[in-house]
Amino acid sequence: MAASPRALRNGLPGSGGRPCPFPKWRRRRQRVTAAGGGASGSRAAPLPWQRAGSGGGMEPAGMEPAGMGMEPAGMEPEPAGMGTAGMGVERAGMGTAGMEPAGTEPAREAEEPPGSPALPAEPRQGPGGRAARGRARRAPGRRGGDEGGRRPGVTVDSSKAKTSLEALKISLRQLRWKEFPFGRRLPCDIYWHGVSFHDNNIFSGQVNKFPGMMETVRKITLSRAMRTMQDLFPLEYNFYPRSWILPEELPLFVAEVRVMKDSDPSWKPTFIVKPDGGCQGDGIYLIKDPSDIRLTGSIQSRPAVVQEYICKPLLVDKLKFDIRLYVLLKSLEPLEIYIAKDGLSRFCTEPYQEPTLKNLHQVFMHLTNYSLNIHSENFIHSDSVNTGSKRTFSSILCRLSSRGADVKKLWSDIISLVIKTIIALTPELKVYYQSDIPSGKPGPTCFQILGFDILLMKNLKPMLLEVNANPSMRIEHEQELSPGVFENVPSPVDEEVKVAVIRDTLRLVDPQKKKRKDAQCPRLEHVPESSESLPDAVPAERPEPDGPRSPEAGLPSLCLKQVFPKYAKQFSYLRLVDRVAALFIRFLGVKGTTKLGPTGFRTFIRNCKLSNSNFSMAAVDILYIDITRRWNSMGIDHKESGMCLQAFVEAFFCLAQKKYKSLPLHEQVLSLIEFCECHLAALDEKRLLWGWGVPERRGGTGGPCQAEGLHLSPAAPALLNRTATASKLADYRTQRN
Ligand code: ADP
Repeated sequence: MAASPRALRNGLPGSGGRPCPFPKWRRRRQRVTAAGGGASGSRAAPLPWQRAGSGGGMEPAGMEPAGMGMEPAGMEPEPAGMGTAGMGVERAGMGTAGMEPAGTEPAREAEEPPGSPALPAEPRQGPGGRAARGRARRAPGRRGGDEGGRRPGVTVDSSKAKTSLEALKISLRQLRWKEFPFGRRLPCDIYWHGVSFHDNNIFSGQVNKFPGMMETVRKITLSRAMRTMQDLFPLEYNFYPRSWILPEELPLFVAEVRVMKDSDPSWKPTFIVKPDGGCQGDGIYLIKDPSDIRLTGSIQSRPAVVQEYICKPLLVDKLKFDIRLYVLLKSLEPLEIYIAKDGLSRFCTEPYQEPTLKNLHQVFMHLTNYSLNIHSENFIHSDSVNTGSKRTFSSILCRLSSRGADVKKLWSDIISLVIKTIIALTPELKVYYQSDIPSGKPGPTCFQILGFDILLMKNLKPMLLEVNANPSMRIEHEQELSPGVFENVPSPVDEEVKVAVIRDTLRLVDPQKKKRKDAQCPRLEHVPESSESLPDAVPAERPEPDGPRSPEAGLPSLCLKQVFPKYAKQFSYLRLVDRVAALFIRFLGVKGTTKLGPTGFRTFIRNCKLSNSNFSMAAVDILYIDITRRWNSMGIDHKESGMCLQAFVEAFFCLAQKKYKSLPLHEQVLSLIEFCECHLAALDEKRLLWGWGVPERRGGTGGPCQAEGLHLSPAAPALLNRTATASKLADYRTQRN
């Protein structure tokens, strides 16, 4: 199947098999302007959430009635022993749901699932947004931002915004912020980058990318991070398909599949092979047996992930679809996560059939990528958000809801999936962050919009496919006017969702809002992570009360909902690797590095008192060399020598298993973390008392620094409270003895 968009573009059914004189695109500008009038017509049409309950009204002309098209109404349990159940990913009901008893916070969040976002105070983006961009709108009651001379606008450098530029421009116009399309000599408040963090000239303000995010969410790195979490918390992380990394885990893959097939001969799995660093379905193919892996030169030069294929996805109109959800990582420390209430659903263009040897290669049946399906002659462009090959997620939820599906639980499971995934990613991100923006050095703070690709199984269990560091923020799509002639036309569905996400991200990171908030209520500056109720008191996710002077007046309510720290209590126990990463960062040594040298590792062992007669320093060195060599031979990052975080985590797990035999892995790891943190806190205390100075903490990630307890920045909080540390250590010793 190995579909490459480029190959597809050169001879696709949709283009009549003729080579496309690509990129011969013309921008249909008149459509953008005309849409002011044209779109206002579509704006008048009820939005999907306004139609909830009126099943018939949701069905587009020419499409099957919902009852027939949807397979199933949603709630059929997965037949035992089928699909991937044998491999442990389809244990619906045992996973996230088990963690969140009814009535817990995510369930409350689910009372307002994306199907029912608050209606904007006035026509907004989407079909309405086009009108908004056509004429300079003035929100009722607003005298304009800086025009009145009262409030200098927030400044945004959009010179590197690339394909997100158009959506950004609309957002900035709605907010009345100042755009600097060619950059600015003076610093800006916000730098909007289309691709990555990197820019050596930014010393202040905020950048919409985290350093290292692209590396962290690559297919292989994500799979490794999820595997670590699956090892620690198998049930909590069963929303990620079981994966193996090629070529290094090929023998393991072959062996595990053989064992599983032997134990359950009826198991007929399918696997999907995805090249690392690939996107838009590039190079992806399906296989029925490990021996089908294409072990050409390319697998060596281009590592890949092979993953269980989810054979029983939820279908709508007989088609497979996936969900693109937008998630804002507003701050790494303290962790702040927001989820957009609405996302996109991208549809396949051939009716789905469970994979067989005959249909394995059918891209339009199995891969939901927009970039592939747009080339199918069945692709339906629609200006409506609830028809066609790309729709809003809320329109799907409405449809599911009208069929009796429990969309509150689904939404709650999605929130849970997002929080857990980010928890898996933060340790690596923190290492990159301290390396690129060491504390004490001037640098910007970061936030980032991530694209989560989620597949719903037939039983409505959401499964994570991948996380995109640079989700497309384009609000246009290609249309083929005549064979081989393409043009870009506005896409109301994209605009509806993406402009709201960008605009509301900007509102949440608004530096002036923060200043105003600090001035009004300085005590709210640091939000304790563990609080469930306090975030309700923090107005960050709500527009300020409308009033003639409020810069938020006239803007719709925020489409981004805070989920962390809001639900921190339920998830903080999962943040073990974060604490291991804090230890790793402490011993990194020279600033600007992401790898631990042998001396740093030895110091870690010594300071944490992990060496003894059973575990000599020579054994420590051997452990370091063994693990580091193996990780470095996997060839992920040759730039630096030394032990990467993932290798350190492996060494740490090894030490934990050695020290606390017979406990489950997560308890072993937790015990070792507490042991290390106590010793380091005591050491820092001693240093402070003796006036030796304390090693500079470099785990900080630029957000408002807060005391997070011992676990996130070991020792720092302890320095603030010596008595607590001393008694904790004493308690610890008593418990151990
Ligand atoms: P890419 O970054 O190239 O888009 P993805 O991981 O998103 O790679 O996979 C591409 C498409 O393949 C997805 O949109 C989805 O339709 C399908 N897909 C990926 N992984 C699986 C899986 N484990 N089970 C079923 N379908 C999958």
